[in-house]
Amino acid sequence: MTVTTNRLRIAIQKSGRLSQDSQALLTSCGLKINLREQRLIAHVENMDIDLLRVRDDDIPGLVMDGVCDLGFVGENVLEEVSLQRQLDNETYDYTVLARLDFGGCRLSIAVPQEEDYKSVKDLEGRTIATTYPRLLNRYLKQNGVNCRIVNLKGSVEVAPRAGLADAICDLVSTGATLEANGLKEVEVIYRSKAVLIQRRDLADEKQLKLIKKLMPRIQGVMQANE
Ligand code: ATP
Ligand code: ZN
Repeated sequence: MTVTTNRLRIAIQKSGRLSQDSQALLTSCGLKINLREQRLIAHVENMDIDLLRVRDDDIPGLVMDGVCDLGFVGENVLEEVSLQRQLDNETYDYTVLARLDFGGCRLSIAVPQEEDYKSVKDLEGRTIATTYPRLLNRYLKQNGVNCRIVNLKGSVEVAPRAGLADAICDLVSTGATLEANGLKEVEVIYRSKAVLIQRRDLADEKQLKLIKKLMPRIQGVMQANE
């Protein structure tokens, strides 16, 4: 008889704002994680689970393509990737298992502090730099405003000073980064938290059982944190 070990694959951010909290949550759920800093895969010693440590931007796609079974990711990234995949006619299916109590932030439009800003209409014809072109585009469309969107993967907050854009649309938590760059927050376009997602077509009995065992523990840890 052959034994098949279908280990559950969970995608987590390798290093960044979600890594510590995602790992801590799993550890609190009883997973003994064998972490060696540079490894892509971390094995869980006491359960049939492997952690795949990747960039957060890759997590929605890995789950939607069924390459990973679960993933911890910010709703902002999840929604942006979903919108992009819809446009590209790719699959964008997933199930949200839990909205988590970390990774809270908002996606906001900010303009130079000295600007006399009254409403979203003031953005008409302007250039906005962002890492979230699809979410921004949806918001502008809903508000009937036409802008030019510049897609930047990093250093978005310096774009106005560098003369690359009139405004930015970026993640904010305290607002300190905006202020340090001479910007003020004028519109909140999306409120985000980290979520745990599952691939839609997961059918393996053993894996489903494992998830059923994990979920009450996750809920328990979150309640204890309240
Ligand atoms: P990676 O190298 O994995 O691509 P990153 O630089 O894109 O990392 P982080 O800055 O680590 O990403 O942010 C990861 C997620 O943390 C964000 O997508 C968002 O959901 C959440 N987050 C919470 N607060 C903030 C904040 N103030 N600024 C940016 N992201 C935040
Ligand atoms: Zn990223």
